[in-house]
Amino acid sequence: MKCYTHFYADGRFLECTGAARMALISPSYGTRIGDVVACSAHNVERAVHSARAGFRAWSASSIDERRGALQRLHHELESRAAAATHALAEEMGCPTWLGRLMQLPMPLKGLQFAIEGLEQVGWRETIGNGIVERVPAGVVVAITPWNFPLHQIVAKVAAAIGAGCSVILKPSEVAPGAAQLFMEAVHACDLPVGVVNMVWGAASVGEQLTTHPQVDRISFTGSTDVGRKIMASAAQGLTPVTLELGGKSAAVLLEDADLDAAIPAVVRLGMANSGQACVSQSRLIAPARLVPEIVERLRNAIASWPLGDPLEDATRLGPVATEGQLQRVRRMIGRAQEQGAKLLVGGAQPPAGLGQGWYVQPTLFGDVRPDMEIAQEEVFGPVLALLPYESEQEAADFANATRYGLSGAVWSRDAERAVDFARRMRTGQVVINGAAQNLATPFGGWGLSGFGRENGRFGIEDLLNYRSLHGAA
Ligand code: NAD
Repeated sequence: MKCYTHFYADGRFLECTGAARMALISPSYGTRIGDVVACSAHNVERAVHSARAGFRAWSASSIDERRGALQRLHHELESRAAAATHALAEEMGCPTWLGRLMQLPMPLKGLQFAIEGLEQVGWRETIGNGIVERVPAGVVVAITPWNFPLHQIVAKVAAAIGAGCSVILKPSEVAPGAAQLFMEAVHACDLPVGVVNMVWGAASVGEQLTTHPQVDRISFTGSTDVGRKIMASAAQGLTPVTLELGGKSAAVLLEDADLDAAIPAVVRLGMANSGQACVSQSRLIAPARLVPEIVERLRNAIASWPLGDPLEDATRLGPVATEGQLQRVRRMIGRAQEQGAKLLVGGAQPPAGLGQGWYVQPTLFGDVRPDMEIAQEEVFGPVLALLPYESEQEAADFANATRYGLSGAVWSRDAERAVDFARRMRTGQVVINGAAQNLATPFGGWGLSGFGRENGRFGIEDLLNYRSLHGAA
């Protein structure tokens, strides 16, 4: 049994004294593998107090000091890579191949781009008789989910360090191991006391932070429903919020798409991490006349994604992270069938031989119309919805037919045509012909996917205020 019992404030680990104990359940076996002890209100107050003191010191830090801190953090995190991959497999079911390929490299790259971002921010500008400065916004509350936990923690904490802010991290209670390792890395970095703090807890601890008068910024990644609540809480103190929320992203195959390249990538970007990525391409919009061939190819590609224990090397897909998530995904599969979507692969039944944990069969629906729930709502499971289109205009209309706007993809052998189509998609980022995601560019959503931007200089800028000094030039 693992027990997460200590929060972090004033530069050290301190015992949590909250009444709540949150059970940590193995998604692979459904058994209890540990506990997280929540912080008391008093513990949270201590973390806020620590962050205020940390802000006073760190807001005066030089760019060189911030660069040095981020470099040390990169080094310390890298040395914990194997332990983090293991914790992610055990606690949220992420297979180790994906941990090694993405869960660790992404935050390390994120740190690197934050370091480069320090040089790219326009810290100071002269306009007429005025000097315009960009100054740290203050104490930042960072609330993160469990699906790419280290990446989401680093996106927020590295930006805060780079901006000269202090931060109170409230990581997800579902994947605490990654956050614990992150804080051990922070502790080894010898940052000034109070710059980075961390509390354990669920919604009530989050609410104490988002309504706290001593908090200057809130940066949240998670579900759209909780994002709404946080925005309402933050409104009391007019605290600015950055919201990185859910998505219902579409991959669009144009008529001339290279299916050999596109289909394996579509399956990977829709199914990897058991579909639990905010940028999962959970809709495939494809030319109607090619649907029979595409379905055949999808069946073959999905068959090469065996489900199993995330700690085993042969496993491509692990379980979903929680029992709640399992029930939700199964209900959505059932409702998609009731609404007339055609079940082509998988389904709501537990996969053979894996009845104990939170496993969902990789599932493909055909004949999906844009108004069906399965085409409108985030599933956060390994479920792909195929929408056939008759014209390119219809493909664009289908792609834009949800209120989310986080990511998307387009495939065409003609690169210019693909870029033209990408510009018609109402979304924060579009991947063209399977290109690698560039973590130095701004990341964030439109519509129900939220607002504000993370990554590199954009994440740092998100946590800065302008100050104009008239007559200083
Ligand atoms: P969630 O919204 O349930 O929880 C996220 C975090 O918010 C957790 O730390 C949780 O404890 C905390 N929280 C819950 N209620 C709160 C409240 N009332 N006040 C303050 N904090 C509260 O999300 P999740 O289940 O952890 O993650 C899955 C969701 O996250 C999906 O919808 C996914 O799309 C989204 N997500 C978005 C991005 C992005 O960058 N846009 C990235 C990853 C995940």
